[in-house]
Amino acid sequence: MALYAIPGQDSLEVRHLVLDYNGTLATDGTLVPGVAERLRELALPPHHLLIHVVTADTMGTVNRQLEGLPCKLSILGPAEQDKAKLKCVQDIGVEWTVAIGNGQNDHLMLAAAALGIAVIGEEGAAVKTILASRVACRDILTALDLLLNPKRLAATLRC
Ligand SMILES: [Mg+2]
Repeated sequence: MALYAIPGQDSLEVRHLVLDYNGTLATDGTLVPGVAERLRELALPPHHLLIHVVTADTMGTVNRQLEGLPCKLSILGPAEQDKAKLKCVQDIGVEWTVAIGNGQNDHLMLAAAALGIAVIGEEGAAVKTILASRVACRDILTALDLLLNPKRLAATLRC
């Protein structure tokens, strides 16, 4: 569990990190350089997060790209992906989940999670998804670094 103290608000106790794949962790199906190291670090103490990747696997690359990384992979069907992603975070428990995504089909899970982070990356982000988030980052490395550096997150979210 990772504890994030946010001045003026309840602390965030985070146990799960739920991630979109294409456009978030990957560009054109290939994992963004620097992501693998950060996911390994977040899975270890003191963070000790359980990491889930939820994706339609549009490019058919996710199994190979995430091989050996500490992630639980869920591949979704083509219909109603926004609702399927929301159900994933609800099943895990929204109260201790951080969700990160970029596409329109991520907006429900980002709004429901205790902390939703939108990333722009190379693919851009749906405005609806940015508006459903508490933080927007320029790319996935910046977003994961917020979780690795609690003081950065506190500075962004403090009232
Ligand atoms: Mg995406």
